[in-house]
Amino acid sequence: MAVVVLALLGPLLVVGCTQPTDAVTASAGSGQAAAASKYVILTFDDGPSPYTAKVLAILHAYGVKATFFELGQNVARYPSLTRRVYLAGNSVQNHTWDHRDLRRVSWTTFKSEVLNTDRVIRAQTGYTPRCLRPPYGAVNSLTYRRAASLGKTVRLWTVDPRDWSRPGTSVIVRRVLANVRNGSVILLHDGGGNRSQTVAALPTILRTLKARGYAFYTTWCG
Ligand SMILES: [Zn+2]
Repeated sequence: MAVVVLALLGPLLVVGCTQPTDAVTASAGSGQAAAASKYVILTFDDGPSPYTAKVLAILHAYGVKATFFELGQNVARYPSLTRRVYLAGNSVQNHTWDHRDLRRVSWTTFKSEVLNTDRVIRAQTGYTPRCLRPPYGAVNSLTYRRAASLGKTVRLWTVDPRDWSRPGTSVIVRRVLANVRNGSVILLHDGGGNRSQTVAALPTILRTLKARGYAFYTTWCG
């Protein structure tokens, strides 16, 4: 299936790639956008939190944009951070209201988890998320059907360094760099606890991936 790739800082590119039924947007400088055949999608879950501002500063320093799967309850607590994430050119998407296992909730709860999160994100961004990342990556066929009926594309990940478990900055770096490949969706966390190791790992991850020639795309699920 063809996927549209938009290069923000370069000529418009339309290419096919391995990401199914999704649209991704380049955020690299024009040099990397020209070599758009090699890319990763960097994602941050469970924010916003006070660590989000540190992540934004590092992303800005490296000219990288990312996708933030935010919890509605945290958007409600830190609405200005959600606005900053979005205005900096990052994608803000839906990670439910309070991190429920969506396989184990009623349809009524599923709808409130997703739609209330949409509402608070939309209040800060003017944009209604089209991607849904179910907490824990917990999905079944019903989850997919319910997500689709709300107009959402389920968006998981392919590289998980388990940064949330705080294994050490160098371990986070090594797990990402050892497993990344073209088209990888990298899972990191800017909320849900102490994320100082994730913040400390980020510059090395970004510097190394850029040196390897990767562009950084955001995902918007169409
Ligand atoms: Zn999460």
